[in-house]
Amino acid sequence: MAKLLIAGQWVHGSSEQQMTHRYSGEALDKMAVASVEQVAAAVTAAQAAFDANALTPSDRYHILSRAAALVQERREQFMGLVSAETGFPRVDVENEVGRTVQTLQLCAEEARRVVGEMVPMDAAPGLKDRIGFTVMVPLGVVCAITPFNSPLNVVVHKVAPAVAAGNAVILKPSEHVPLTSVELCKVLIEAGLPPGLITLLHGGPQIGRALVADPRIAFYAFTGSTRVGKEIQAGAGLRRTQLELGSIASTIVCEDADLRAAVAKCVSAGFRKAGQVCTSVQRLYVQRGIASDFTKQLVAAVRSLPYGDPSKPETIVGPMLSVEHAQRALDWILEAQAAGAEVLCGGTRTGAVLAPTLLANVRDDMKVMCQEIFAPVMCLNEFDDLQQAYDAANATPFGLAAGLFTSNVGIALSAGRKLRFGAVHINEASSARVDVMPFGGVKDSGFGREGPRYAIKEMMEERLLTIRY
Ligand code: NAD
Repeated sequence: MAKLLIAGQWVHGSSEQQMTHRYSGEALDKMAVASVEQVAAAVTAAQAAFDANALTPSDRYHILSRAAALVQERREQFMGLVSAETGFPRVDVENEVGRTVQTLQLCAEEARRVVGEMVPMDAAPGLKDRIGFTVMVPLGVVCAITPFNSPLNVVVHKVAPAVAAGNAVILKPSEHVPLTSVELCKVLIEAGLPPGLITLLHGGPQIGRALVADPRIAFYAFTGSTRVGKEIQAGAGLRRTQLELGSIASTIVCEDADLRAAVAKCVSAGFRKAGQVCTSVQRLYVQRGIASDFTKQLVAAVRSLPYGDPSKPETIVGPMLSVEHAQRALDWILEAQAAGAEVLCGGTRTGAVLAPTLLANVRDDMKVMCQEIFAPVMCLNEFDDLQQAYDAANATPFGLAAGLFTSNVGIALSAGRKLRFGAVHINEASSARVDVMPFGGVKDSGFGREGPRYAIKEMMEERLLTIRY
């Protein structure tokens, strides 16, 4: 039973939900679902634990380093859980767990580097006898609400900075992938985190809403859809949030690009985790002069992607979250096809597995182009003038990440200013994330930044202290 962790105790919820293997459907563990009353009790306990435990940066460093070592030691166990809950193929599962170890280690290191700054009080006339400096203090109780598509690394990107900052953290993982979080909490406690400083609550929107409604929570670190992000922000009022939301990511390939590299990177960026990645390449813009060559290479590469049963070692594209999710994406493809789009490859579904799909002759008003598809589907567009590609990529409500392939350093530098996204990656596709970097969006993709150093800062308060002497 995947229990709840409240006040350092593993407890039952008010009901139970049977979890099943994402691909085979075989029964896994049961999940204890929290009640709204348990949410209130959990916040009380988290606040009490925060008040009772003041961990030093050194304590936090040692706890998070040990946690990194424990996840590394139990790599196979974590990989098994992530694989069962998500249906991700081995390559994605290895990546998820390997990156988690790095994220924990980075948070451990950053925990020792948290500093305020001196304020030059004497820069104001007549203030020779005052000094001022800031100190970084934890916020108190931080709540992490996480999505289904990264049951370990995105969870750690919220929990570990919260610990590094000295907060108490309440985790509500996605109700679709709760089991991995249980093992993560066990690791943190075994690594020395005082039990009350980590709380685990399982459940869906009702539990999320109860957490948002509790005014004792100081900060919400949320990753998920834009719709839910807007609801959380509305409920959080003046309390601080970090919102990592949806996206329609674009990647642009200029005619002077290294085509072979661009094809390889776009394929891996568009189809890993069956396209269920917030920065997955949904819109691909290719300069007309190379479009025919590029498309030939891309179609060949996508056609050769092994897809289907994630337990086969060669599989690259596994199932989506559910048959319904795959069917919804297929409906959008068929709708686009009926409106004139060409299916270059894919466009079929078996159970929750959608064949890797490439579409051409698409228009901006088709759902495959103008709504987040979150599926192994990529739309090919051609452009003549680079400004056209910038305008098209910028013309969505989102702005999380973009990629651009060019060998021209001038284009590389100006793209950084012209593409309105949280990140612009040159000679990488849009999903070129490395855990050390600041990560987050603009517009409907949210605000605030993940990345150990940046998230820790967001989860602390910079308090000013001045002294007259
Ligand atoms: P979701 O928004 O449906 O759910 C995310 C979490 O919010 C879950 O834990 C869910 O139980 C909870 N939740 C649902 N309703 C709630 C409410 N009213 N109040 C509080 N909590 C609530 O997202 P999902 O389907 O799990 O994940 C897919 C989405 O996440 C996509 O839109 C994707 O782009 C986005 N995502 C973004 C990033 C990023 O870094 N920007 C990364 C991964 C996923």
